[in-house]
Amino acid sequence: MSTETFEFQVEARQLLQMVIHSIYSNKDVFLRELVSNASDALDKLRLEALRDDSLGADVSDLHIDIEADQEARTLTVRDNGIGMSYDEVIQLIGTIANSGTAKFVRELKGAKDTAAAEGLIGQFGVGFYASFMVADEVVLLTRRAGESEGTRWSSSGEATYTLETVADAPQGTSVTLHLRPVDTEDQLHDYTSPWKIREIVKRYSDFITWPVRMTTPTTAMTEDGDGDGEAAGEPETLNSMKALWARSRDEVSESEYHELYKHISHDWTDPLETVRLQAEGTFEYQALLFLPAHAPHDLFTQGYKRGIQLYVKRVFVMDDCEALMPPYLRFVKGVVDAQDLSLNVSREILQQDRQIELMRRRLAKKVLSTVKDLMTGSPERYATFWREFGRVLKEGLLSDFENRDAILAVSSFASTHDQDEPTTLKQYVERMKDGQEHIYYLTGESRQTVENSPHMEAFKAKGIEVLLLTDPIDELWVDAVPGFEGKQLRSVAKGELALGDEAEKEDGAEREKRQEEYAALLTWMTERLGEDVKEVRLSSRLTVSPACIVSDAHEMSPALENMYRAMGQDVPRSKRILELNPGHPLVGGLNRAHTERADDQSLAETAELLYGMALLAEGGQLDEPARFIKLMADRLERAL
Ligand code: ADP
Repeated sequence: MSTETFEFQVEARQLLQMVIHSIYSNKDVFLRELVSNASDALDKLRLEALRDDSLGADVSDLHIDIEADQEARTLTVRDNGIGMSYDEVIQLIGTIANSGTAKFVRELKGAKDTAAAEGLIGQFGVGFYASFMVADEVVLLTRRAGESEGTRWSSSGEATYTLETVADAPQGTSVTLHLRPVDTEDQLHDYTSPWKIREIVKRYSDFITWPVRMTTPTTAMTEDGDGDGEAAGEPETLNSMKALWARSRDEVSESEYHELYKHISHDWTDPLETVRLQAEGTFEYQALLFLPAHAPHDLFTQGYKRGIQLYVKRVFVMDDCEALMPPYLRFVKGVVDAQDLSLNVSREILQQDRQIELMRRRLAKKVLSTVKDLMTGSPERYATFWREFGRVLKEGLLSDFENRDAILAVSSFASTHDQDEPTTLKQYVERMKDGQEHIYYLTGESRQTVENSPHMEAFKAKGIEVLLLTDPIDELWVDAVPGFEGKQLRSVAKGELALGDEAEKEDGAEREKRQEEYAALLTWMTERLGEDVKEVRLSSRLTVSPACIVSDAHEMSPALENMYRAMGQDVPRSKRILELNPGHPLVGGLNRAHTERADDQSLAETAELLYGMALLAEGGQLDEPARFIKLMADRLERAL
């Protein structure tokens, strides 16, 4: 049969280059990756055979074989699982399917920085490609269950690979590595040594539910002892196959949990936290969940796979089981093993099952209480968790009413209280000033815009803490969440400001007088700017800026309006309120000029400029920047 040569997809080639030249210190993990893939392939075959009895595959002795040849320096990992078709080999082995990883590889391409490459390998794992850390040639022979012909793939990890159709391949996949010479400095051990293989499998793959076998040649002790008497020995099973969640807690070490996490998540980094849950009673199940230490790149892309695997009485049944975790906890990985489900339960059935719903709620609560424990017991790890997953978790404030308070309790937010450290709501409430009734916040695009917005001035002057909310999701939940521990959440850019302190009450009379002084100006300006604002009024929130724009208490913020528009919804533009700072010389001057001259072109332009400045100051956009600039330039010129 003819051999065809193919090129790796660009990103795959770049990743391979990184792998080949990597100094990744723990090269042993290549074997873990091969065994993990083989185990997945056995799971898949078992499921497919269950669904399709015309498949004609032999599932009587599913297992993984490891075979080492010390003389030829080859190592083969073989499974009799699902296998791959010719096209699948091209798809699965020749390309990187995970769009997030592909993007990251592209970004790293230019940076010929080994440390960065190391980071990439460690964070995302490189799966099958890890073989090229230890081998200079890899041959994969595979036949998909149900198909008659097999495929041989081979590559040295450079730009190309070859494919060939073979008539007599056994069902499943074998991967043969032509190992590079042993080099202890480079952590390249002798991977043909039975002792080494045993050790690696035991360490990384002990919990794999299928037998991992190895046949070591037994050297017959002949008189001359020259080893001539080598004969194939008995196959030994290297792994205990015991499900970790079925073993008692003190029997399982932390590193064993971590290896299971790596097997199911394809992440090479240890998880941040391991969560065990045992439910007894009418609906019995065990759960072993993990909070990863970093967010995957595709967490916010559509179709992101939720990482819970479903087992029924130790038998793998389903990957990415979305019925077991609410969407805002989609980053949680793990295994749930239920006693009383059918082995061929479908996704549709799970979605409607009352017991499954109860299980999902219980798991969500457990995850939230784990985060809470991290918060109190391990602030550093909590900070990592929040940095990586806070944005996702906050989605739950909109969707999970039952756990809203629990989510709020484990959330933290940037605040004016501290430049670096975020605050919890509880801490905020503890710091609230005497007489302060609300929890104040401001939403916006970045900490800088929000912090420097004119809306903050009075709060700065009075030393009142404001939460600085800059995630897109913040625009949404602040309107949905009524409050925390009886304290309402209030935007500093909405409604009338009543900070209600003593000083303010005292100058009530003075305020009334000022209100009278400005009444005519306010009426006139409200009319002049009527197309843009619904009211012009005096402000109690400004100390420095001449003007700012605020919304009514129950109106959407401009950013939220924009978000809805970006999603294709037709949102009418709501008119907001322009507030003037009577203490500012420009506003005072405008009032005097207006009393003297009533209305003229120059006053009208000043009013317009004031509005434009207020809009810019909060990070907003002018409708007609060109006109604003012209007015401004004219003024500046006259002032020269
Ligand atoms: P990952 O396992 O993280 O998806 P890999 O590069 O290890 O990435 O493998 C890519 C894909 O190739 C797997 O998802 C699987 O579909 C397929 N594959 C790898 N090894 C095997 C195998 N032994 N049998 C069947 N399919 C396999």
